Amino acid sequence: MHFTGTACITRLILGLGLPALALSGSSAQVLTSEAQLHSSYDYVIIGGGVSGLTVANRLSENPENSILVIEAGDFDQDEDYIIIPGLAGGAIGTKYDWNLTYVPNPDAAGRAPSIPQGKAVGGSSLLNRMVFDRGSRADYDRWRALGNRGWGWKDLLPFFKKSETFTPPTDEIIAEWNATYDPSVHEHFISALTGLGIRIPKDAASGDAVGLYFSPHNQDPVTATRSDARRGYWEAASHRPGLSLLAGRTATRLITKLTPKGPKVIGVEFVSSKCKSPTVVKVGKEAILAAGALHTPQLLQLSGIGDPAILAALNISTVAKVPGVGRNLHDHVYVPVVFNFDFPLTAANLTSNATFAAEALHLYNTQKTGPYADATGDFLAFLSTDSFTSQTDTLHKLANSQHPSTYLDADTPPSVKRGYAAQHKLLTAGLAATNQAQVEVLWADGTFVIGLQHPFSRGSVRPASSTDPLAAPLADAAFLRNPIDVAILIEAIKFARTVAHTPELAAFNPVELVPGAAVASDTELETYIRGAAESLFHPSGTCAVGKLEDGGVVDAEFRVHGVRGLRVVDASVFPVLPAAHIQSSVYAVAEMAAEAIKSS
Ligand SMILES: Cc1cc2nc3c(=O)[nH]c(=O)nc-3n(C[C@H](O)[C@H](O)[C@H](O)COP(=O)(O)OP(=O)(O)OC[C@H]3O[C@@H](n4cnc5c(N)ncnc54)[C@H](O)[C@@H]3O)c2cc1C
Repeated sequence: MHFTGTACITRLILGLGLPALALSGSSAQVLTSEAQLHSSYDYVIIGGGVSGLTVANRLSENPENSILVIEAGDFDQDEDYIIIPGLAGGAIGTKYDWNLTYVPNPDAAGRAPSIPQGKAVGGSSLLNRMVFDRGSRADYDRWRALGNRGWGWKDLLPFFKKSETFTPPTDEIIAEWNATYDPSVHEHFISALTGLGIRIPKDAASGDAVGLYFSPHNQDPVTATRSDARRGYWEAASHRPGLSLLAGRTATRLITKLTPKGPKVIGVEFVSSKCKSPTVVKVGKEAILAAGALHTPQLLQLSGIGDPAILAALNISTVAKVPGVGRNLHDHVYVPVVFNFDFPLTAANLTSNATFAAEALHLYNTQKTGPYADATGDFLAFLSTDSFTSQTDTLHKLANSQHPSTYLDADTPPSVKRGYAAQHKLLTAGLAATNQAQVEVLWADGTFVIGLQHPFSRGSVRPASSTDPLAAPLADAAFLRNPIDVAILIEAIKFARTVAHTPELAAFNPVELVPGAAVASDTELETYIRGAAESLFHPSGTCAVGKLEDGGVVDAEFRVHGVRGLRVVDASVFPVLPAAHIQSSVYAVAEMAAEAIKSS
């Protein structure tokens, strides 16, 4: 992967990963029809997104392995909205997006928040906003504390490093920021927050990700274009003889056979967008599910692997009783707080000022600099509870007083409740800790995007229908179901208002537009939050690593409990979200999965 960050207010350049080869989607290993398939592959990977292509790349290092990647979407065509960093996010709503919504949520004023998910070779790495950060050491040590040996920060760090090549800041930036840094002549947001006592860690990627920091971006520092799973992992491997990819095909079912040692996956059924009659490809060693946190559990359930009660309601026979499949869905939820400031030029001018936009595009095309050379989200604030509110004790007591199961779905199986109780204990302790963040504050042109990092609420994913495997899954992220999540966001909104009125920003005449100064009491703020909350696009947790008796779906080596020849390697396996944008964690976990598969 290539990782670079060109901060708009500095010239910080970060990261360059695997060399991208100039191969296109027409490489010999890209199959175009079912007739080109072998009847059997050692490994069939379902989903050619971040995790799927990472694992495909690593397994294909061994020329003895035959690997097929089945991807529902197509190859992108280097569209501007995909490769130009300043247009990052522009692929949302296009044919490269599944265009999903969560189910209507009574705790979010009955709304059905949209949840874009990549549908292309490269998956959501083509849609994403290119923020490339890691959570705190404590976030990953929590995964190990939940009983998963080998899943702590120290275990994951080598895999974080393996998935990226970091381009350090230039001497100019080092001089500007480490030696002669003076906040008052630089960024107002930064100086406003440092003025409030928020620290700047030396390097957030070291596991010390609490405070204010520059975030790298997944960007090629030479071409100033997006680096993603297709360009970083697929293109670097697509010449390998053992690796094949079939795009535009949707897996609809895992074919299993009952053996004396239990059910075993022996094939994968899929359909093409043109031909709905299914094809089956045989699995020699393993099927590897990498279809993302919403589609992976759906596919397991459609294949009879899950909670028998859910399966029975859909007339699906149970192949393996794994009650945690589809449970534990959680996502980073955010609310915006919007101010008007008298700033002269901002990134928003790219959409509102055609002359400025044309000049910026010319600069990008000729020199690869300017606003289009930079995805947003350069400087992030990840805040522990004590740094944004004086109400730490109150929030901690509120969480402590809860019975962990109170806000879970009524039909939550006992094993999942037990696993969540352990999570709840750790989340509660985290509220009072200073070594992990509870909220992120992202700043863009007067808008504070306030993201809840460790939601207590948990929802689920289940198939809408057993007869139509192509129907979108019913995904309920349960935003704001647990009132502690609302209480944290209320405090964070108050903090954003404090920041806006610091001397550093007050000089620019802040006027609060959303929710507006009149929305003042906690009750009014709660109403605003429930009516405005949206996803930060990090659904996770739906096939969590953990013991079966604690609601886990995969073991520490990514094997699905009770089913032979089957692993899950995508964002589904996170037991609890880290406080970070999650792609770098998905890459690292997938690298770890590849290692587990290779050494088994
Ligand atoms: C709009 C958006 C913005 C984001 N911004 C950021 C950001 O700035 N920073 C960050 O760190 N993270 C960001 N993320 C999150 C990050 O991109 C994801 O967490 C990450 O890509 C998840 O990897 P994955 O392998 O689990 O799933 P994906 O990368 O989504 O890959 C899953 C793949 O499986 C395919 N698939 C699904 N079902 C089937 C099926 N039945 N058969 C065949 N193929 C199937 C999909 O088409 C897709 O290609 C963003 C995500 C989105 C959607």
